[in-house]
Amino acid sequence: MSRLSQAFAKYRLQWLLLGLSTLLLALSLQHAFRQITELNRRDTNNMAAELRSQFQEMEAFLEAMRGQAEERLRSNPQSILSRHLYQALRVDGSKRINLDQVPADLPPALIGNLTGLGPLPVPGSEREDTIHLALSLSPLLSTASKLLDEEVAWIYFTGTDNFIYLYPWVPSSQFRFDATIYRKSYWQDALTQQPPAQRATLSRPYQDFAGRGQMITLSQPITKAQKVVGLLSIDILLTNLERALQQPAPQVGTLFLVNQHKQVLARSQPGTAPPLRYGEERDDYRWQQGAFQLVHAIPDTPLTLIHRIPLIALLEALFWQSVTALVTLLCLVLATLSSLRSRRLNQRLNYLSRHDALTGAFNRHHFDAFEHQHALAGNQRIGAIMFDCDHFKRVNDTFGHGVGDEVLIQLVRLCKPLLTKENSLIRWGGEEFLLLVVDETVSLCDLAEQLRRAIADHPWEEIAQGLGVTVSLGHCRQRPGVKLQEAIRRADVALYRAKANGRNRSEGWDDGEGQPE
Ligand code: GH3
Ligand code: MG
Ligand code: MG
Repeated sequence: MSRLSQAFAKYRLQWLLLGLSTLLLALSLQHAFRQITELNRRDTNNMAAELRSQFQEMEAFLEAMRGQAEERLRSNPQSILSRHLYQALRVDGSKRINLDQVPADLPPALIGNLTGLGPLPVPGSEREDTIHLALSLSPLLSTASKLLDEEVAWIYFTGTDNFIYLYPWVPSSQFRFDATIYRKSYWQDALTQQPPAQRATLSRPYQDFAGRGQMITLSQPITKAQKVVGLLSIDILLTNLERALQQPAPQVGTLFLVNQHKQVLARSQPGTAPPLRYGEERDDYRWQQGAFQLVHAIPDTPLTLIHRIPLIALLEALFWQSVTALVTLLCLVLATLSSLRSRRLNQRLNYLSRHDALTGAFNRHHFDAFEHQHALAGNQRIGAIMFDCDHFKRVNDTFGHGVGDEVLIQLVRLCKPLLTKENSLIRWGGEEFLLLVVDETVSLCDLAEQLRRAIADHPWEEIAQGLGVTVSLGHCRQRPGVKLQEAIRRADVALYRAKANGRNRSEGWDDGEGQPE
């Protein structure tokens, strides 16, 4: 048997326990993993649904404004409100139009900030129409600005004629139209796209002109006869998106909001590494770039939400998630190990209580159990062979106690091959042994002689030079009505007779009929 299989056989229970514990641990970790990913998938889906509804709300405003604006362009861009606001437009020294002196009789909420490059348009010109168009959108721009207040930075109309009409209102000293806006990619897209886009488009991130930070723009062109006259836009600060991702932030890992160009717009945790590459969307966590990633394209938007759980964070979450199971398992393992230990200890104690520690033969406690067991079974023909080492004192005196002990151990070894399973060899005292033979058919006389010869013929010199060992034996088979104890006493008497008759011999009990057994 190989060393490994020997070790396995010896510690079978422990191996089994180890295997079972590993299995339980694996199951509990798998369960915890499933719970964590399930929970986070649900949170990511909810976040995606939330962002989608915000995005759609903005799109709906843009679409409503576009509809109204294009209708006005077709009919009459001027309204009572637009005329009222138009009259308040002023051109300053540097030839810039602005709406700083707001009409006192109009509710402030209806007034945005119109700034542009002067002069005021010629009456009846197309530019006058576009400015009226922008001013007439005031109620819708005002409502959208109020309702989307939390989520967006600016809502505005930018005309192709160098002006912007923007909400919420700020004086022209703080913000002015800047023609560089036309160089922005979303403007270029709107101007060059043929036919003009029907749906709102989302820009790449850029720095706000008014200095409010990084933002993206959702914009919708307004066209007249397939020609773009202006853009309706909503600016979203990236910090607002970041705040949205943190309400609530995922329990484990980081959420990334990515645009159509795979640029990270926002993340739920500042400073975390962005997912540089990610695969196709899949409704499950996948191992990508050293982390578990869930890629969720937000429907009807160009945005993608990525939830990324780094390995360390996952292991930590797994640990806390399954800590109860781990502690229980640990207690279970410790309890089982301790019970195994005490079982082994019990087995050892049990062995020692019935065996002689030196030779491994049974002791007298075993005899009590043997007698009881066979009395119950009705066995009344047990054979007893009692044997004793001849001149053992001399062995001790001549060769020392160590050799004496070795002789006793060897005596028991020599007896073992002659014994069947039901027979018992008992160390009766010092160097005196009792062999109990259950099988009725065995001749005690033959067995005793066999034993005697095996002992006498053994090469004792191997233990100590000049050493020779013989035994004397007495035997007696139990008869119905005679107790086992009495048979043993009779065997002992026969043994003494063997001693008296010269030792290294066996004698049977003569029960008075003169018939040795
Ligand atoms: P005989 O039986 O032939 O009459 O002579 P004996 O020398 O064997 O007689 P006795 O029964 O008087 O001596 C037995 C000796 O066995 C005495 C004791 O010191 C020794 N003895 C008993 N138990 C042990 C043991 O466990 N180890 C050793 N080394 N000696 C033991
Ligand atoms: Mg003796
Ligand atoms: Mg003796």
